[in-house]
Amino acid sequence: MPELPDITVYIEALDARITGRTLQQADIASPFLLRTERTAEDCVGRKVRELRRIGKRIAIGFQDAPWLVLHLMIAGRLHWSTKAKKPDGRRTLAAFTFDSGCLTLTEAGSRKRASLHVVEDPAQLDPGGLDVLTSSAEEFTRVLRSANHTLKRSLTDPHLFSGIGKAYSDEILHLARLSPVMLTSRLSDEEAARLHRAVQGCLTEWTAKLRTEEFPEKVTAFREGMAVHGRYKEPCPVCGTKVQRIRYASNETNYCPTCQTGGKLLADRALSRLLRQDWPKSLEELEEMRKHELLI
Ligand SMILES: [Zn+2]
Repeated sequence: MPELPDITVYIEALDARITGRTLQQADIASPFLLRTERTAEDCVGRKVRELRRIGKRIAIGFQDAPWLVLHLMIAGRLHWSTKAKKPDGRRTLAAFTFDSGCLTLTEAGSRKRASLHVVEDPAQLDPGGLDVLTSSAEEFTRVLRSANHTLKRSLTDPHLFSGIGKAYSDEILHLARLSPVMLTSRLSDEEAARLHRAVQGCLTEWTAKLRTEEFPEKVTAFREGMAVHGRYKEPCPVCGTKVQRIRYASNETNYCPTCQTGGKLLADRALSRLLRQDWPKSLEELEEMRKHELLI
């Protein structure tokens, strides 16, 4: 799922292409995409005023019109073309034609989870997590200690922290040299401050790395240059130890035992169970499904 660095570079690329431009046409070809009664038609003929990141969503604000708010979920991706495109409803779910070019949304696979909300105020879709890049170490630590969970769960809870998912939480914990299954209640002040520095360092560095003049077309959770995420059995770039994993349900957490857990392997049943109970599924996915059910 695109996380803060990916969403930030999407927004920067869109800002350069559509801010001040007029939406000429909105074609929604998938019956699953739109989750509100209001439609994108309300924005046609209007100029884009600003773009905002709302958690892992991309919000497009128009002059005198509602906001279009996109959530790409796991497999949704954005594309930019100077030519007009028609969505086929199978892979390409929507096309938004501006006077500067065409923004399309694709989603791979048969499970269509990406969503579009047309709303007056995008803040209503904000799960409320702390903006980690602008937060102080004190604010970050207060939020971290507001609930007792594993670090992996807390970092990826959109109600606690904004924009962090499965991929970057692995990278952040590796940079902070902390175990993914450590409980937040056990964290010392020094460790919490270290985690805060790692959150800001990791997300800022990756955003800079992903920034490009071109429209970001290769958005993936598995990036070359990541230290542990998606690198099971590969050597840790810091110490050379083989990266390990904890698997639970369809999720996997990657970590380096030498850098993060004092050499201990965490892949035993009890820990898998702990993580599964603590992090049943991505909370956002669950919420999306619930919302979808409510609308049906
Ligand atoms: Zn290591």
